[in-house]
Amino acid sequence: MDDLKRSLLNVFTYSNLDRMVDRRKDAEHLASLQTSLSARFVLFHQDQFLMSEEPNPAPVLVESGSIDRWQCSIETSVYLGCRGEHNYFALEIGDTSWLYGNFSDNANFVELRENGYSLKAEDATLLSYAKAMFHWHRAHGFCGVCGAATLAVQGGHCRRCTKPECAKLHFPRTDPAIIVAVTKDCKCLFGRQKAWPQYRYSVIAGFVEPGESVEQAVVREVLEETDISLDTVDYHSSQPWPFPGSIMLGFTATASSYQIRLNDGELQDAHWRSVDEVVDGLISGEFRVPPRLSIAYRLIEDWFNEHSSRKLSVVMDDLGIVRLW
Ligand SMILES: [Zn+2]
Repeated sequence: MDDLKRSLLNVFTYSNLDRMVDRRKDAEHLASLQTSLSARFVLFHQDQFLMSEEPNPAPVLVESGSIDRWQCSIETSVYLGCRGEHNYFALEIGDTSWLYGNFSDNANFVELRENGYSLKAEDATLLSYAKAMFHWHRAHGFCGVCGAATLAVQGGHCRRCTKPECAKLHFPRTDPAIIVAVTKDCKCLFGRQKAWPQYRYSVIAGFVEPGESVEQAVVREVLEETDISLDTVDYHSSQPWPFPGSIMLGFTATASSYQIRLNDGELQDAHWRSVDEVVDGLISGEFRVPPRLSIAYRLIEDWFNEHSSRKLSVVMDDLGIVRLW
């Protein structure tokens, strides 16, 4: 399996959307698309998307003719791209009062984190993309150069400073972060932060700093948090992580020793675990893994499945462990 195929197994990475990068710069073309029969809008409100729960979780796709009911302007929508016969837009709305009593299919505003794993892969990816875009828009309402207000242009893929003598163009940002499954012999290194749900453990993660390569960030984070030096570092896969706006770069690594010391205090606890010890912890309830939609789970799953005759997902299903947020 190559890096692309491995990454595509991660939630939020399904790729059947044409982002229409060239056409989205054409304001006239976009305006006609927004009001066309091909337009479908996903609605966003207070960090949640309008979704229906029955028969399966899915985003409610609103046609342009129905947008007026939401008392918002389609001109502020973000163009996500084209898939099949539809053009997808994301729209942040301020008033949800129209919703209640007008949807018969159990539609409600739901956090993507809650049901991202249950959505169809293409829908989870679409909403993840939209969520990251809204996060960027919210944080860039003012020009970082001169402080004047900025205005969304190019279908929401650029913000232009409104001060004529500046006119700086600002483009969407994503923060690179590394996440790494560190192993030695048949054991994997797990850590937990104090703020996490009780008994939740994960692999080591942290943001890439300016002036370092992603591999250097892997080595630094593991050393900072656990005092463990690495012998090897290998790329695994990546996952956009819109909580709020990161790209997770997944790695595997081998440690040079077992000796742990919690150097920077970021972790409350860290320890090594074999697959049997993972299963024992899951059964007793004193060890929990990250949610299945995360690349953290994927890294743990790949390590576990390599060293076990039973797949981690089967063990979890047998124990009835579905949602851990
Ligand atoms: Zn400016």
